[in-house]
Amino acid sequence: MTRKKGIAILGSTGSIGTQALDVIEAYPEYFSLEVITAGKNAELLIEQAKKYQPNTVVITEESLYQQVKDALWQESIHVYSGSESLCQVVESAEVDTVLTALVGYAGLKPTLRAIEAGKTIALANKETLVVAGELVTRLAREKGVNIYPVDSEHSAIFQCLVGEFHNPIEKIYLTASGGPFRGWSLEQLQTVKREQALKHPNWSMGAKITIDSATLMNKGLEVIEAKWLFNLRPDQIDVVVHPQSIVHSIVQFEDGSMKAQMGLPDMKLPIQFALTYPDRFTTSFPRFDFLNYPSLTFEQPDRMVFKNLDLAYEAMNLGGTAACALNAANEVVVEAFLNEQIPFLSIADINEETMRTTPSINNPVYEDFVETDKIAREAALHLVTKWKIT
Ligand code: NDP
Ligand code: MG
Repeated sequence: MTRKKGIAILGSTGSIGTQALDVIEAYPEYFSLEVITAGKNAELLIEQAKKYQPNTVVITEESLYQQVKDALWQESIHVYSGSESLCQVVESAEVDTVLTALVGYAGLKPTLRAIEAGKTIALANKETLVVAGELVTRLAREKGVNIYPVDSEHSAIFQCLVGEFHNPIEKIYLTASGGPFRGWSLEQLQTVKREQALKHPNWSMGAKITIDSATLMNKGLEVIEAKWLFNLRPDQIDVVVHPQSIVHSIVQFEDGSMKAQMGLPDMKLPIQFALTYPDRFTTSFPRFDFLNYPSLTFEQPDRMVFKNLDLAYEAMNLGGTAACALNAANEVVVEAFLNEQIPFLSIADINEETMRTTPSINNPVYEDFVETDKIAREAALHLVTKWKIT
């Protein structure tokens, strides 16, 4: 029998992370869980460690190290803390695939280290490619590392490309649900509350991506993610709103043929495919029934109301560190919105102003991304303070 596939899950306590644990648990003969990591949720990390018995756990928040260490003293599990540990554990010889399921810019460094170490990447952390797509994909090419998408739209594109890798793509269409405010006017959006924005119609996800879905920034980030994953020009990437979230995305080839991947909205499927590719394993996930969906509909996104989508295109066209600045601003403003410090519509306004005022660096190296992230965060925080709800 061949060796089991050793998996490290960065961000096992999150929405993607917990679903990934379910997938891995279902195929004990195929996967071996080597590493799980959390940011601050020590209780859940301890519970997961006891249940799934990984080799190693990391709690990134250093003040929680002792709590995790004490709780696991009877288990034969290594316990580490701090963000540098995230980078070290992915290099372990037992790890074959690193699932990057942590949220935000924090995913960049451990992903780069995992690629350096030659590990296959199952990428959920889209911000990594948004911030430094050129650097990440170049390093992956140099190291001969495959990056398999977990994001449902990118998994859909990837699934449509299986058997077609030699055929050039003419265009792709990323589908978007439109979020909870599809069809709303700017006036209606002025008084939107946190709880309304956190209610996604089709997907249950972490707080940051749920807000990004409500502002269409998530689709903007996905456009940039697609550019790097599939080596596309900006004009080859289009977005279409599809409120039922059944068609997960579409590839158009040079002969005009279009392929779409469909299914019920359930992240376990793309997580599993990223971990089992090129194989498909039998699942008991609920199946899509056409009769429950007599009409699948498609419409244009409202780019005037949801400005973040065009900001992402602008960042992609500018290149350099523009998308890094936009991402940093967005992380700051989403947190501020979740803390009820700024109104919903300020999210895109602060993103725009931060991106326009942060100097962009051409042909950036890693340190340029670190510096740009820092400058853009400071600029966005300044604007948050200025525009704070009193
Ligand atoms: P969650 O917020 O649910 O989970 C995030 C995970 O990352 C948690 O384990 C959290 O730990 C950990 N974490 C957060 N910040 C840090 C940090 N600074 N350092 C180390 N660990 C950290 O997010 P999701 O699971 O929803 O999303 C994860 C990624 O996957 C995002 O990039 C998102 O865009 C992408 N994605 C998610 C989808 C979904 O359905 N949820 C769909 C497609 C993509 P803790 O909670 O312990 O603090
Ligand atoms: Mg997605």
